[in-house]
Amino acid sequence: NKQVIFRDYVTGFPRESDMQLTSGGTIKLKVPEGSNNTILVKNLYLSCDPYMRILMKKGDDLVTSYTPGSPVTGLGVGRVLDSRHPDFKEGDLVWGTTGWEEYSLITAPQGFFKIQNTDVPLSYYTGILGMPGLTAYAGFYEVCAPKEGEYVFISAASGAVGQLVGQFAKLLGCYVVGSAGSPEKVDLLKNKFGFDEAFNYKEEPDLNAALKRYFPDGIDIYFENVGGKMLDAVLLNMRVHGRIAACGMVSQYNLEKPEDVCNLMSIVYKRVSIKGFVVFDYYHLYSKFLEVVLPYIREGKITYVEDIVEGLENASAALVGLFSGQNVGKQVVVVARD
Ligand code: NDP
Repeated sequence: NKQVIFRDYVTGFPRESDMQLTSGGTIKLKVPEGSNNTILVKNLYLSCDPYMRILMKKGDDLVTSYTPGSPVTGLGVGRVLDSRHPDFKEGDLVWGTTGWEEYSLITAPQGFFKIQNTDVPLSYYTGILGMPGLTAYAGFYEVCAPKEGEYVFISAASGAVGQLVGQFAKLLGCYVVGSAGSPEKVDLLKNKFGFDEAFNYKEEPDLNAALKRYFPDGIDIYFENVGGKMLDAVLLNMRVHGRIAACGMVSQYNLEKPEDVCNLMSIVYKRVSIKGFVVFDYYHLYSKFLEVVLPYIREGKITYVEDIVEGLENASAALVGLFSGQNVGKQVVVVARD
């Protein structure tokens, strides 16, 4: 059972060497006698997500870190090989939190969903039909309370969450601008996902000026994925009664000391609401979300870009690559295809 082991707590940028591929032990492909409420899953697709970096820090009150010497864990898609759990049976396709290994024994699976719709790529359940998709859906429709015609800005816009938020906003009839970190990503935003405008934040010496260029009348909704300097510049460009959905702040995850945000007084002058949210609070919306998004995919109204790497041996590089923007679209690792 090949495994990717988390070696030790990380400071600064994570490196591939913070994780190690081991051959693991041999395991019997059966749930052991007496292990009730346990399933044995063959992992097919693993998801690389920015929150995993937060679990690499030594824990605090808010997060339970990875355990050095144990396999990395994350979201993934798998097939149940054996079950001693009443809700799962052999052959079920599932997604939920699993180990970075070929086979995982999972006791009392929490937040595990059975995959019923297999006319779409299975890997989608790590992205558009999984946690990032639900994040985009809940964050946009529930947190932002958007209205047709509003001006929407999304950072890290070509990623797993951002590309979907932008397409939801376009379907609603909003004016949508995204920022991303390369010309290739900017091109995707404009020509594949249908954003009205997009820019490469790495080529903008003055983010405030860039936002003024695209939003001369200000921003109604900011879908916040990066934090730091971008948030500061956005605060200067919000409209009165604008809303910010604080989804994540990926630019801060590798810093020992978060950057200062200076323009907080704009929140007062512009009567801006900022609401942080965590997708796990919206898991009850999952079936409603599928009812909305599956038809969009089938009818070609929404498209989704994945960045797929093959093999557990390439998983740690793929995860680390999120923090230099190496991924183009949702970062997925294939462990096995069936
Ligand atoms: P992405 O697929 O967008 O991958 C991360 C991207 O972040 C990179 O491709 C890179 O894109 C960008 N990035 C990395 N470092 C920086 C930096 N220093 N400054 C600016 N951009 C940077 O990830 P996701 O779509 O999965 O996640 C997006 C955000 O949503 C993250 O902040 C994540 O933590 C958050 N999130 C929050 C959830 C919640 O429940 N609240 C759930 C899921 C995700 P680029 O090339 O454009 O720089």
